[in-house]
Amino acid sequence: MEQSRGLVIVGGGPAGSATAIALARVAPALAARTLLLDRAAFPRDKTCAGGLIPQTLSILRELGVELTVPAVRVDHARVDVAGERIDVDSPGCCWVIRRREFDAMLLEAVRGHGVEVRESVRVRGARRDGDRIVLDTDCGEIRARAVVGADGSGSLVRRSLVTAAEGWLARAVMCDVPIAADEAPSRFEFDFRAVPEGLAGYAWSFPCLIDGRPHWNVGVYSLARRGEGARLGRLLDERAQGRELPRKAHPIRLYRGREAMSAPGVLLVGDAAGVDALLGEGISFSLQFGQLAARTLAEGFAAGDLRFANYDRTVRRSAMGRKLRRLGFAARMMYGPAGPLWFRVARLSRRAQITGMNWYNGVAH
Ligand SMILES: Cc1cc2nc3c(=O)[nH]c(=O)nc-3n(C[C@H](O)[C@H](O)[C@H](O)COP(=O)(O)OP(=O)(O)OC[C@H]3O[C@@H](n4cnc5c(N)ncnc54)[C@H](O)[C@@H]3O)c2cc1C
Repeated sequence: MEQSRGLVIVGGGPAGSATAIALARVAPALAARTLLLDRAAFPRDKTCAGGLIPQTLSILRELGVELTVPAVRVDHARVDVAGERIDVDSPGCCWVIRRREFDAMLLEAVRGHGVEVRESVRVRGARRDGDRIVLDTDCGEIRARAVVGADGSGSLVRRSLVTAAEGWLARAVMCDVPIAADEAPSRFEFDFRAVPEGLAGYAWSFPCLIDGRPHWNVGVYSLARRGEGARLGRLLDERAQGRELPRKAHPIRLYRGREAMSAPGVLLVGDAAGVDALLGEGISFSLQFGQLAARTLAEGFAAGDLRFANYDRTVRRSAMGRKLRRLGFAARMMYGPAGPLWFRVARLSRRAQITGMNWYNGVAH
């Protein structure tokens, strides 16, 4: 049976949920006519370290969402670069959540704002029919005036309606290492020592709680997606101290400002559009994409113009777009041939390190 909708959001991760919540705040009547679909039944797992930078917490407050799920507070940052270990005290520089719980919390907030959510509904195809978008889903065809692609790195909405280009992708692998309760750390670790050997990325350890028990979430991030399997496996083994634990890998689509993030009737948000190339942080950007998309949708529906001709420019010129562009530049520099030189420069000044960390975290300084 064919159904008809004003707006459909495909994906109920942070980007889709933030779009829905922000929309309910700026255009409640439109939000009340909006449908959010996700192929998963929540709570569902998402391969992610779950680190929330302070800016993420500020955006959650702007969205009126309270962080009610278990979170480990990080007060110290440890960074290893070739030849040096840098320890920085930085109270509250990160909070580590589990995405299973965090995303379910956000989706509950979406429902609380009166947006209809349907879980376990996969979008299998998307096409245009005149000025409508037709979604082929598990619950039949849905015709929509506009669609938001919040369906992650492999976005079907993007591939079907915006661009077939694969874009710039990173890969990250991770596992969770149980630790004794009295060893529960309050620091996170970033390890760039493999960069001079050719890793275009880093290894991490984040403290986290799984079912109330302390763990290290350890992982490796790499800009090079292919031919890196053996190196990533070895680095992950080192982080996990050789323990045989279930591993999970997932791509992260990275922001490249010149790529299209919209088409008539379609907006992309979060990983579907592209996030931070330097560290692969995507939650704060997904929430900000949601806020920008909600404003664009509210204006477009109010004006009866759903071409969204200004969305890409709005994203590029926003504080978020400028930050993403700088992170892309930094990633090319730090992980490129001149990377070791950049790391040497970054090691020189403690003040520059703290300024850089505050800028990254979105903390006033
Ligand atoms: C190993 C790893 C570690 C990471 N660590 C961090 C970190 O510590 N901090 C951080 O900020 N970021 C981190 N990231 C990045 C972060 O996970 C992503 O940027 C973030 O999840 C993007 O959110 P999203 O809502 O755009 O997409 P997603 O979270 O991927 O959500 C997309 C949703 O769309 C649904 N969906 C997909 N296709 C369809 C379909 N066809 N029909 C219906 N539903 C569909 C999916 O079920 C999913 O719920 C990490 C990523 C990886 C891979």
